[in-house]
Amino acid sequence: MKPRDYNQDPFIVIWELTRACQLKCLHCRADAQYHRHPLELTYEEGKRLIDDIHGMNNPMLVFTGGDPLMRPDVFDIADYAVKKCVRVSMTPSATPNVTKEAMNKAKQVGLSRWAFSLDGHNAEIHDHFRGTSGSFDLTMNAIKYLHELEMPLQINTVISRYNVDYLEDMVDLMKQLDCVLWSVFFLVPIGRGQEKDMISPAEHEKVFRWLYQTSKHVPFDIKTTAGQHYRRVVIQNKIREDKGKENSVIHYQDALMNGKTGSIDGLGRAPKGVNDGNGFIFISHTGDVYPSGLLPVKVGNVRENALSNIYRESQVLKDLRNPDKYKGKCGVCEFRHVCGGSRSRAYAVTGDYLESEPYCVYIPKAMRQKTRH
Ligand code: SF4
Repeated sequence: MKPRDYNQDPFIVIWELTRACQLKCLHCRADAQYHRHPLELTYEEGKRLIDDIHGMNNPMLVFTGGDPLMRPDVFDIADYAVKKCVRVSMTPSATPNVTKEAMNKAKQVGLSRWAFSLDGHNAEIHDHFRGTSGSFDLTMNAIKYLHELEMPLQINTVISRYNVDYLEDMVDLMKQLDCVLWSVFFLVPIGRGQEKDMISPAEHEKVFRWLYQTSKHVPFDIKTTAGQHYRRVVIQNKIREDKGKENSVIHYQDALMNGKTGSIDGLGRAPKGVNDGNGFIFISHTGDVYPSGLLPVKVGNVRENALSNIYRESQVLKDLRNPDKYKGKCGVCEFRHVCGGSRSRAYAVTGDYLESEPYCVYIPKAMRQKTRH
């Protein structure tokens, strides 16, 4: 596979197969509905989309929703993608649709990974956040099936006011459940997610530092979503720890200048940090294309134009991929190429996707120098 240039090809494509879902999660990005939309992309349209995705240097493909299991043809779509050698994973909702039979089918089709959401270490916290009692127990049972089928487990957790004081307990649970990846999502106030549920900028910083220390001794990988400034915290910590070692700063130049993180442990598997529209693209249930599921600025529709054309040519996406265009402190920050802040959170809070990340406490060097003079 040729090296990936995010101006041409995304690292990850998220396809919202349907908006239908039986849950009523407090933070739901999609404001999910009980019934399927009549204009959802059809199976045939989905196949054309998968062909186009495959042609973009074969990025990872994630089926999301709503609940992907609300589509009866979900495994036919997955089968088509896997047969083309596309790596597919799925994030179904914890509802009675998650049966042993469904998981077995996923395994037979060849899905790479199954992700479950757990937002608390006990039923009280998790079920409150998911808006449905019984969701915690259902998830625990489903994880048992997954282990029986020997499928790798990913846990997704939304960090919010409701669970920020119980993160050590979450880690204990994660170890017990033998997960391979903990995907930690930082709330963006969109859909049903609200600013009052979010942790403060200082708490973000505290959680990032804790995550970095935790990542050193847990048996699973940790990645953040909408927490781009975690990359800044990792690099700052590593520079501090490597102080005095030969070439310690030079080692991080690739990250600071080009956003390339491949050489730095603890920054995930992407060769370069992804951000909304930059290595990352989202297709809605009706084919609308967005920089991410959390940034509701439509840049095209796959029924009218190929995803590859939209991804490469949209001016909005080009601007999002150019950190020198960012405003305020993100625009002058020495970490802008590796971090850049969450573009979706900037949009949700300020109405401008090029504005600064509003939940970052860092003052860039350029601004500190300005203040001193
Ligand atoms: S100021 Fe912006 S680019 Fe700099 S670390 Fe904070 S979020 Fe990242």
